[in-house]
Amino acid sequence: MIKKVRPHINQNEALLFERSSPGKRGYQLPPLDVPPVDPASVLGAENTRAEIADFPEVSEVEAIRHFTRLSTQNYAIDLGLYPLGSCTMKYNPRVNEQVARTEGLAWAHPYQPESLAQGILEVMAVLEQMLAEITGMDAVTLQPAAGAHGEFTGILMVRALLESQGHPRKKLLIPDSAHGTNPATAAMAGYAVENIKSNNLGMVDVDELARAVDQDVAALMLTNPNTLGVFEQNVTRIAGILHAKGAQLYMDGANMNALVGVARPGDFGADVMHLNLHKTFSTPHGGGGPGSGPVAVKQHLAPFLPKPRLARANDGANGRWTWNYDLPQSVGRVRAFYGNIGMHIRALAYIMAHGGDGLRNATLDAVLNANYLRVLLEPYYQLPHQAPILHECVFSDARQAQRGVRTGDIAKRLIDYGFHPYTVSFPLIVPGAMMIEPTETEGKAELDLFVDALVSIAKEIEETPDLVLTAPHDTRTSRVDEVTAARKPILRWAAPK
Ligand SMILES: *Cc1c(COP(=O)(O)O)cnc(C)c1O
Repeated sequence: MIKKVRPHINQNEALLFERSSPGKRGYQLPPLDVPPVDPASVLGAENTRAEIADFPEVSEVEAIRHFTRLSTQNYAIDLGLYPLGSCTMKYNPRVNEQVARTEGLAWAHPYQPESLAQGILEVMAVLEQMLAEITGMDAVTLQPAAGAHGEFTGILMVRALLESQGHPRKKLLIPDSAHGTNPATAAMAGYAVENIKSNNLGMVDVDELARAVDQDVAALMLTNPNTLGVFEQNVTRIAGILHAKGAQLYMDGANMNALVGVARPGDFGADVMHLNLHKTFSTPHGGGGPGSGPVAVKQHLAPFLPKPRLARANDGANGRWTWNYDLPQSVGRVRAFYGNIGMHIRALAYIMAHGGDGLRNATLDAVLNANYLRVLLEPYYQLPHQAPILHECVFSDARQAQRGVRTGDIAKRLIDYGFHPYTVSFPLIVPGAMMIEPTETEGKAELDLFVDALVSIAKEIEETPDLVLTAPHDTRTSRVDEVTAARKPILRWAAPK
């Protein structure tokens, strides 16, 4: 047993409020040489609250050490594999960060006149064209700020199209393997949701779909490959069934990491889709950072794209770029200004640095890695769907559950082995789901370590299940009581009145 000589290293970090003692300061200022003001007289009494006046008072070194210690408690993609399925947590080449920090691009201001913004407008225009090429679609908007926001934008366009034909229709069909944002999008766009069951291969049941499509259906929201990592092999038939009844095929393109350079949704019948630049195209993902969810459409939906749209002035092919606001059928703006431009720059740098062959190779490696894990883990964990997989694989905890150990317990034990957990209990159609997405950025050595960890945990469950049921053991915070904790507010924070 190691004697703990530096207690703070392995203990829970105290809050700054707990370290606070009155009068401590992290700064030195000269004496005030202007009359003091009462905040309420400047901000208005309704905007100031006495109960939050109690800020912690600590020295500079205490503040620095507090935040530095907290930062070392995080797991990060820069530390190791982050196999969070559906999220595509992949390493993002630093060179793209460098490009996004290029002075003229990073400091561009949305109110800069067009004549002084031609470079950044060109970046956006070229990215739109490249995303259209990659997806096989005709036009792209870069405005939406997340995948879910892209879904909402896309479904608003479907609604606008159908309204222009006389009736917006009433419902969206959503497979039971879909991401939770899909039904949320439907509800926000004013549509009812009808669930479509998957068959035993984990694909949409086409017969059930055919029965469900009628004049009330506005669209099917399909993720392809779906959240099981399975490619919907009947997708062109599915598109045909929808189109025959005047409905649209919305494709959730969050899983494009499995298709880029290999297959194009526009070629297999999608009418509208979103991409997650923060999954597939080189923006760091997670931690609440900015997102970007461009939406690509076929020509018949292009008039409904959010405005403004980039256009060449005077229609000349080499004329300067300008923003066109004169788009009477547009669904309008979905975001202030033009989207999260730093992410557009990263995506363009990533696409251009890879080139067509490089993008295709990244996809092939992502698929290879997932299949490598599948083959090595299948002897230890149940694989409920036997269809070939692309970029991710979903096991179930069925075997381990017989010994009382569930997916969440295995995930917590994985932390002791130095890995971020996989996605727990999603997709919902797999009870006790363990959803693993390695991405193309992992080498064989890292994948082998991950397999060793999961194999070792499977053996622990046979021999010493309690070890797994009480994990994690090697973290600063041991297992938290999620059941009672979920019922208590985490922060004592006074909501604005
Ligand atoms: C991540 C994801 C989304 C939502 O994207 P956000 O950027 O988190 O809003 C939608 N669908 C699928 C399949 C996803 O994996």
